[in-house]
Amino acid sequence: MKIICIGRNYIDHINELGNITPKEPIFFLKPETAIQPKGHPFFIPDFSKKIHYEIELVIRINKIGKHIEERFAYKYYNEIGIGIDFTARDIQEECKKKGLPWEKAKGFDGSAQISKIFINKKDIDLQNISFRLEKNNNKVQEGNSKNMIFSFDKIISYISKFYTLKIGDLIYTGTPKGVGSIKKGDQLKGYLNNSKLIQVQIK
Ligand code: MG
Repeated sequence: MKIICIGRNYIDHINELGNITPKEPIFFLKPETAIQPKGHPFFIPDFSKKIHYEIELVIRINKIGKHIEERFAYKYYNEIGIGIDFTARDIQEECKKKGLPWEKAKGFDGSAQISKIFINKKDIDLQNISFRLEKNNNKVQEGNSKNMIFSFDKIISYISKFYTLKIGDLIYTGTPKGVGSIKKGDQLKGYLNNSKLIQVQIK
């Protein structure tokens, strides 16, 4: 199983980090070990002074596919969940400056937080999924699938040119603006259309 993450898929987040809007989806991988056992707290790793949260909609692949045409991409996933793409922003900034890969900043243990519950796509309007992250009960991030630069179908089609998609693969589809730091004692809660799907305690 692999975890594929899309970067720079919301204009407001691209602007807050001073990045350039991509013409094609940007993606990177996290290893399977980035997922921690459900319900476990997240321990801030000692190699970073700046771990950021990024709330994202996550789609789960339910059919093997390669070179998937965009118009058929909807057949390859049936559930949407919520994830937090934890990022060691200080390390990522250094990697970017040196032109090095980001994996060290993005793929560490616990960096792929994922909701226990996924929602069947038949039960939601895919073009209008609202989601948000609360830190200590204050809203810090809010997004909507209608503001994605690249749609779920476009993302699946694009990734499948390079990688065979397999059942169980997860795709994190990018974060809206409002990314920020966590510290010991924080509590994060992620909502999809007002249903709380994920909760993470920071230690
Ligand atoms: Mg992200």
